[in-house]
Amino acid sequence: MKAIYPGTFDPISLGHLNIVEKAAKIFDEVILGVADYTAKENYFSFEERVELCRKSCAYIENVQVISFTGLVVDFAREQNCKLLIRGLRAVSDFEYELSLALHNVKLNADIETMFLVPSLRYMYLSSSMIRQLAELNADLKDFVPPAVAEAFKQKMHRST
Ligand code: ADP
Repeated sequence: MKAIYPGTFDPISLGHLNIVEKAAKIFDEVILGVADYTAKENYFSFEERVELCRKSCAYIENVQVISFTGLVVDFAREQNCKLLIRGLRAVSDFEYELSLALHNVKLNADIETMFLVPSLRYMYLSSSMIRQLAELNADLKDFVPPAVAEAFKQKMHRST
């Protein structure tokens, strides 16, 4: 069975990667779908986010990174996939994720959402916190894959 793990991935963190690894063990094929449209202003460009996801997931055989524009349910239909994976870290994620899942099932009743919980040590990781830490020159090795830590360094270097 095939599943799509969609998101902004701005940038992909070790928490996201933990969910990808878990999904890759459960499903035959996992598509990490990088969304072009997001309601938030992004730190990394669409191309950068896709590239960082590709580099970070390269070691997992049954994972493909594919970018998409528009609705995730349309992307899922194009990919012939009926299952979306989302990650749940805490109660605070729940309300938003539930709302998103209900809207998606209203848009396309054939597509279900399943939630995976990360390993405890990744529970606290969030891309927005990681972006703030990067601005303050924190060592990011415990939070993001090496390619992302390098990309932050390059960006910081360019902006100084
Ligand atoms: P979006 O902008 O669509 O919410 P994100 O890229 O922020 O997408 O996150 C994609 C999914 O991964 C969401 O379901 C989010 O709750 C989940 N997620 C984010 N960080 C973590 C983490 N540290 N552990 C597990 N899941 C996470």
